[in-house]
Amino acid sequence: MASAPFEGTIPHAARKAAVLGDPVSHSRSPALHGFWLAEHGIDGAYVPLRVEAGRLPKALQTLQAQGFAGCNLTIPHKEAALPLMDALDDAARAIGAVNTVVFKDGQMFGRNTDAEGFMENLREGVGGEAPLAPFLECVLILGAGGAARAAIHGLLEAGARKVILVNRSLSRAQNLAREFGPRLQAAAWEDLPEFLPTATLVANATSLGMQGQPELVLPWSSLPRAALVTDMVYAPLETELLRRARALGCRTIDGLGMLLHQARPGFEAWFGLRPAVTPALRAAVLA
Ligand code: NAP
Repeated sequence: MASAPFEGTIPHAARKAAVLGDPVSHSRSPALHGFWLAEHGIDGAYVPLRVEAGRLPKALQTLQAQGFAGCNLTIPHKEAALPLMDALDDAARAIGAVNTVVFKDGQMFGRNTDAEGFMENLREGVGGEAPLAPFLECVLILGAGGAARAAIHGLLEAGARKVILVNRSLSRAQNLAREFGPRLQAAAWEDLPEFLPTATLVANATSLGMQGQPELVLPWSSLPRAALVTDMVYAPLETELLRRARALGCRTIDGLGMLLHQARPGFEAWFGLRPAVTPALRAAVLA
């Protein structure tokens, strides 16, 4: 008999969802969905399942057959899922990755909620759409990987006028700029002293500053005090970028909110209500 395509326990509950990844034990998604399930008294379960690269098609079919409502995808499955879906939303198509799958009427719908999570975190941090608008005049993004793609999609949808992409590998930033169009400009890391002073919003979408990774180093004195500064890295919550920016007088927004906000659409699709991002949720996920 063929072995199960995942490692983990299938729960008994009226509504079920999961996160599939490898590794998956570090994922904070079970804590945050578990918080919402308990908060709303829903007869539901959300479980981490370890699925090796290459076993995603079988794992998705198995979950669908077991009556799951859907799942989140993390490394290494986000891009591999694209051709497996019956339909994709605009964000998944533009970003080139699926982080949320909804099973409905025998079909698999692939969505990407990272752009929405990124933008909602910014809106919440400054107090809404209108206060955010001035910060979207000239956005500087550090990085050109999956997180940067999500941020770019969200920013362009929200009307950002100009987005400067700065990446260690310049060619990756140039490719993204070509792909996403005329509001984007690619720049080399060495050019930061020229571009940083023009930024109204600075977003770190590299893994620099994450626990176990090298620190992000910027020409700090070029960071404009009027800029809004956000970091997608949330472990640690207080990164060197945020600490430095705050010391200079900038407004800052940490990366945990993005993680929490990107989870809301999936929860709503699987469990039937749109949950809130609250201080209690932040505390539970940090714990
Ligand atoms: P990725 O696709 O692997 O991209 C990594 C990026 O970091 C690339 O631009 C890479 O530059 C850059 N980088 C890595 N090491 C570097 C170094 N030593 N010096 C300079 N640049 C370096 O990863 P990702 O999925 O985009 O994730 C990036 C970060 O965002 C991670 O920390 C992740 O945890 C975080 N994230 C957070 C959320 C959230 O909800 N808060 C969501 C998604 C991602 P090269 O192109 O030159 O390699």
